[in-house]
Amino acid sequence: AENFQGKHVLVLGLAKSGYAAARLLSKLGAVVTVNDGKPLEENPAAQELIGQGMNVVCGEHPLSLLDSQVDLIVKNPGIPYSNTLLIEADKKNIPIQTEIELAYQISEADIIAITGSNGKTTTTTLITEMLHHSGRTPLVAGNIGIVACEVAEQATDDDVIVMELSSFQLMGTDTFRPKISVLLNIFDAHLDYHGTKEDYIAAKARIQSKQQASDYLVYNASDDVVTQIAQSSEATKIGFSTVDLVEDGLDVVEGYIRYKKTAIIAVSDIMLPGKHNIENILAAAGAAILAGASLTQIQHVLRTFGGVEHRLQFVKKHDERLFYNDSKATNILATSKALEAFDKPVILLAGGLDRGNSFDSLIPSLSGVKSVVTYGETKEKIAQTARSINIQSVQVVNQLDEAVRIAYNESEEGDVILLSPACASWDQFKTFEERGQAFIQAINNL
Ligand code: ADP
Repeated sequence: AENFQGKHVLVLGLAKSGYAAARLLSKLGAVVTVNDGKPLEENPAAQELIGQGMNVVCGEHPLSLLDSQVDLIVKNPGIPYSNTLLIEADKKNIPIQTEIELAYQISEADIIAITGSNGKTTTTTLITEMLHHSGRTPLVAGNIGIVACEVAEQATDDDVIVMELSSFQLMGTDTFRPKISVLLNIFDAHLDYHGTKEDYIAAKARIQSKQQASDYLVYNASDDVVTQIAQSSEATKIGFSTVDLVEDGLDVVEGYIRYKKTAIIAVSDIMLPGKHNIENILAAAGAAILAGASLTQIQHVLRTFGGVEHRLQFVKKHDERLFYNDSKATNILATSKALEAFDKPVILLAGGLDRGNSFDSLIPSLSGVKSVVTYGETKEKIAQTARSINIQSVQVVNQLDEAVRIAYNESEEGDVILLSPACASWDQFKTFEERGQAFIQAINNL
């Protein structure tokens, strides 16, 4: 681990991760200055750090912060590199890192790192479950909402850290070298932050750039961009694909998921719905096997794991109806994916914040739906879209709990009742989590 004793570190951004990094660095003997945009009066975290004797500058990002010695900047992943302070720091060749690099440097545990444009949280959770059931002690961290350097500080060499990473977090890594890295897929995303697709790909590629032959890269062999990265990787490679054969990796043949040609489980025995989830499952099984999970326990998890909360999560079977909570689906694309996941009759509950967009692009996936119940600000708009095609029944209500009751009254045995709103929640709820909870509550009240 790097020696931080006496190093002058500037921590930029005091969100959860900045706060944790500042405290940790200080504990490791660094001379820490913290800088946050929020004025001191509205900034309890800053006040607390001042109370601990730390040097804190609030309310602005003065370039004078770079006048005195700065050996390292640890920045919040959300701060763009176009920030003038970062541009100046870069000119002075000051290393700019995220707390992920710090976590790596202090960690005694092996790290399994997961990135991709989509499926990160699901894959991270699956790996964690598989290792947990196999008797290891996986610690989950990173983009999933748990500060990595805090987890790394507590981890011992018996542990394994399963770390979900965004491209923003990976941008600020330097020596970061996970034991196992997982590269799920790369679509165009976050171009507002990264500028170009090349920058975005380069950020994702950092997950494996320091790996050696004794490390593993689990990669999507049917994603061209990912495959290109894998080809130039030093790591030992394990490919996965739902469409092609992968001799030495994971694939799907005659309805079975296989690892190195050995069947692990029938796709029909997997609880998690959706074709896209099969990719996440292949990736997770690959990483878990490499980290020592047993095939029996992997099977067990795949038979019983109903999904991450609010992401096409199986809630329960009630009166022979299957309820799914996909409250995280805050746009049309996510709802389309959800609808494509089912081959049973679906009653869709949708609606929420009106951003002024049209719902026409929902039509292709909506056309197979049995009925639609809309609520919230966009209720009339979505209903109108649904009525423009041949859907048995379209109903409009005000609130989500009413929508659940109506859907249930309409439903027959074997139907799927799906909340996948295609809209943000902020017209009626504080967060998509709160909306998902309200849905579950309404189901329990039936
Ligand atoms: P992330 O953490 O990367 O945002 P999640 O696991 O939370 O990903 O899934 C979010 C949404 O992304 C899902 O509801 C689904 O619509 C889509 N998704 C998940 N996995 C994949 C995948 N492998 N390929 C394409 N889309 C996916």
